[in-house]
Amino acid sequence: MEFEINKAIIRIVQGDITEQETDAIVNAANSSLMGGGGVDGAIHRKGGPKILEECKKIRETEWPDGLPTGKAVITSGGNLKAKYVIHTVGPVWRGGKYGEPELLAEAYRNSLRLAVSRGLKTIAFPAISTGAYGYPMEEAAEIALKTVKEFLEKEDKLEEVVFVLFTSSSFRVYERKAREILTG
Ligand code: ADP
Repeated sequence: MEFEINKAIIRIVQGDITEQETDAIVNAANSSLMGGGGVDGAIHRKGGPKILEECKKIRETEWPDGLPTGKAVITSGGNLKAKYVIHTVGPVWRGGKYGEPELLAEAYRNSLRLAVSRGLKTIAFPAISTGAYGYPMEEAAEIALKTVKEFLEKEDKLEEVVFVLFTSSSFRVYERKAREILTG
């Protein structure tokens, strides 16, 4: 499924983000940047040890106490097809009254800004926070789609944003929300 926003393409696909050939893939990391389960585990397993080495260096030099929620950093893609991995930390869902929506939007925005600042043209996102962090899929999809749409409307340097959904149920939610949010 594809949509055009300000000459850029938004694509919604079902699959494994570690197989994407975009310039960057986004990792739903945790603040330790030391790896974990879900997307994070898959990226480090397939990308190999170089990514973790770079993450360790970022911890030592930039974020000794860990990467705060909503921020993003970039490493190489190691053995992945993508040249870069952008690591961001989404919020843990605590019911929605603890700033979760704004923090999730920030995670998307800061990842997009970082991609643009490095001159990247294509980027793939997983459904940040919707696994171990418990964010409800419908709400998360809405924030992801709106935030990317607003970003692309203001910024014309990105060519393609891909949302990669791991499960058929999350893919269907994104399809439905995208028809609502990205058309007209
Ligand atoms: P978080 O801790 O931010 O919730 P998770 O990795 O636990 O991150 O889950 C985020 C989303 O990524 C979930 O919807 C999960 O189904 C999905 N996911 C898990 N593995 C992959 C993968 N290899 N590619 C794309 N999405 C994935």
